[in-house]
Amino acid sequence: MTGRYAPSPTGALHLGNLRTALLAWLFARSAGSRFLLRIEDLDAGRVRAEHEAGQLADLEGIGLDWDDAPVRQSDRSDLYRAALELIDTYPCFCTRAEIREAASAPHGSPAGDPYPGTCRNFTRGEQARRERSGRPPALRVRASGAHVTVTDRLAGPIGAPIDDFVVRRNDGAFAYNLAVVVDDAEQGVQEVVRGADLLSSTPRQVWLAGALGLAAPSHAHVPLVLGADGSRLAKRHGSVTLAERPEDPEYVRGMLAASLGLAEPGSAPSMEQLLARFDPAGLPTRPWTFS
Ligand code: GLU
Repeated sequence: MTGRYAPSPTGALHLGNLRTALLAWLFARSAGSRFLLRIEDLDAGRVRAEHEAGQLADLEGIGLDWDDAPVRQSDRSDLYRAALELIDTYPCFCTRAEIREAASAPHGSPAGDPYPGTCRNFTRGEQARRERSGRPPALRVRASGAHVTVTDRLAGPIGAPIDDFVVRRNDGAFAYNLAVVVDDAEQGVQEVVRGADLLSSTPRQVWLAGALGLAAPSHAHVPLVLGADGSRLAKRHGSVTLAERPEDPEYVRGMLAASLGLAEPGSAPSMEQLLARFDPAGLPTRPWTFS
């Protein structure tokens, strides 16, 4: 088996990210699997080289190791371009606000608003008229109302209708949902362990794997870490990165392990001890509130 952790180098990893990474490592290594690291750096506007270096150092700092050199998505455009050739796509000129309006979802959903299909059946003339407007189009895949149910190892079954989602953004970047599917298959990843915030993207990804003729991995979405105010842990909560913590990284690892029921609070367990204690069936199913 092969597992992975796939951070986006758009900032320092916080305790929620580190806890997810530790879990992904524990899932993989406790099963004797390979463990890969993939740098998801397609969002050129937000990615910084120093974040990549800092993230790798922090992951090492809490005791993770990985097989092979990490790959960067920005080096893999040819793979994504080739995948786009295999699916039925169409240009979409809609703005986010237009989609929100059409879908009449006031706050949007974590997976983005379902696309109502505005640009799906444009005639050539309509398409040309939109092109002349100067707004570069995104590319959407024609999913034609497919419905997918995925059984998550931790979260159970999740079913969703698949909308025509974006596979290439209107700034030219390959979309996360495309790249992640292509990469997991190309890297032989069979088990995806990641934060529960990505659960709602999973049916789209499993559908896309099928459309590309690729095997979909199994999934385990782990509960999130929340700040004292009950919102998803973020930098603004303060003291949430290794650099901001007064303790050494092994102690922080102990904190994370304690939150998972794998160590006594205040202890500094070794990675070997955590591996020996790890049991996916015993993981907490609720978010952890960090204060
Ligand atoms: N790069 C994504 C993130 O940092 C994770 C993608 C994944 O694990 O599928 O949120």
